[in-house]
Amino acid sequence: MNKVVAEERPVESSDAGVNVKPSHRQPAGPDPTPQIGAGTVGIITVDNPIMSSRDVNVFYGDKQAIRNVSLDIARNQVIAMIGPSGCGKSTFLRCLNRMNDTIESARVTGSITMDGRDIYDRRQDVVQLRARVGMVFQKPNPFPKSIYENVAYGPRIHGLAADRVELDEIAQTSLQRAGLWDEVKDRLANPGTSLSGGQQQRLCIARTIAINPEVILMDEPCSALDPIATARIEDLIDELRASYAICIVTHSMQQAARVSQRTAYFHLGDLIEVGETDRIFTNPRHKLTEDYITGRFG
Ligand code: ADP
Repeated sequence: MNKVVAEERPVESSDAGVNVKPSHRQPAGPDPTPQIGAGTVGIITVDNPIMSSRDVNVFYGDKQAIRNVSLDIARNQVIAMIGPSGCGKSTFLRCLNRMNDTIESARVTGSITMDGRDIYDRRQDVVQLRARVGMVFQKPNPFPKSIYENVAYGPRIHGLAADRVELDEIAQTSLQRAGLWDEVKDRLANPGTSLSGGQQQRLCIARTIAINPEVILMDEPCSALDPIATARIEDLIDELRASYAICIVTHSMQQAARVSQRTAYFHLGDLIEVGETDRIFTNPRHKLTEDYITGRFG
């Protein structure tokens, strides 16, 4: 295999967030102060992050699902969360727009900030947060409404359009950006559920875009789609990153390699390694990452 070793981001002068704790491949040395993200190999920070998580733990009842996850989310970049089933990828993703609030047994500790503000602050309006941090789910889930209404509903309830003309414009632009307009422009009144699976997922993306998010979370968005529909969504993700930060959970390493610039590898609730996607897939530093990407595990 042709090995391409990608450079890591330059280390910030403060060394903040850089793991200097020994991993199995690094020589052990004195480490008197706990480091942020110390359990993770690679650089967990980025310049000017849109979101930052620090020491995030999630419990479902007594069971801990993720441990001390510290990770920055970069603007205009796709980060892929990979790892074996049950390792906590979706749990972490759901922390970023407080979707775990909807699970009664879930408890989140640690800090997650967006533009420096704690999203778990009790003054945080969760509806506003979810408008800024939109989510696309595994199974396309259009509302039982028309194609038009699926996209117009959010902008209407968030008061983003002054009148019907503006609402029509938002609906059209969102459908265009989701690559669906040409396929649906003559049947906007038809039910969203009348579309194919891939079209429904693009409709859900249009619905997310319509309320001007800054971050889009995608939880295995292609797992219910055929390869052609998957390729369209992957192309779309690449286009959307010009405007949004995108976090995608995927069980497909090929997909992670195709769509992301940065990859986070989770294992049994721990964030094991983070780095540039090319580097993670060609030169993983942690044995667990290497085992996973070479198919020896998971
Ligand atoms: P992944 O996305 O990597 O497959 P999850 O985040 O879905 O992993 O799950 C992480 C762990 O948390 C698993 O052990 C899973 O069984 C558990 N878990 C996930 N959701 C719930 C829930 N709603 N209630 C209880 N346990 C859950």
